[in-house]
Parts: sequence; structure tokens; C-alpha cells
Amino acid sequence: MGLLYSLRCGECGYKKKDLMAGPAPRGPAPEIGICETCKRVVNFHPDGTLPKCKKCRHPLTPALSIESVPCPRCGKALQCIPKGIWD
Ligand SMILES: [Zn+2]
Ligand SMILES: [Zn+2]
Repeated sequence: MGLLYSLRCGECGYKKKDLMAGPAPRGPAPEIGICETCKRVVNFHPDGTLPKCKKCRHPLTPALSIESVPCPRCGKALQCIPKGIWD
């Protein structure tokens, strides 16, 4: 069971809904990555290989934690808003 978050940038207005973080019911916990090509934040499931953006195939920059994700558009710290629990 993990937590669902929204991220918001107070600087440029970038928003990302429904990001998952924390332990998953089965398999590895989803992680947060940033695609610097598409300028977006995405969830990925670590599988031992280099994470890639599903849209553009560019390698993702992993974020250390949901609380410290830089805005993909302007580089400011995104505000992290807990939205609930998923399972
Ligand atoms: Zn921003
Ligand atoms: Zn991309």
C-alpha cells in the first residue's frame, strides 16, 4: 500500500496528479523520475535497467524522494500534496 500525491509548482504553475510513492502491495515500489525532454514528472517501476520516458524514450532523472522533486519546467522545488492511499 502506498500513497498518492499531487505535485504543484508555485512558480510556473506546473501540475502533476496521481503520482505514487511508498511501498507497493506487490513488486518494487514505484519511483519518481523527471523527463527533461518532455518536461514532466513520471512514475516508473525500477527493474534494474536505466529508467526511460515512455513517451520519448529519453532516460529519466530519478528524484530522490517525492518531497524533493524539482520542477521539470523551471527547476524550483515542487510542492507535494498528499492525496490518499492506493493499493
Ligand atoms: Zn515550475
Ligand atoms: Zn519524455
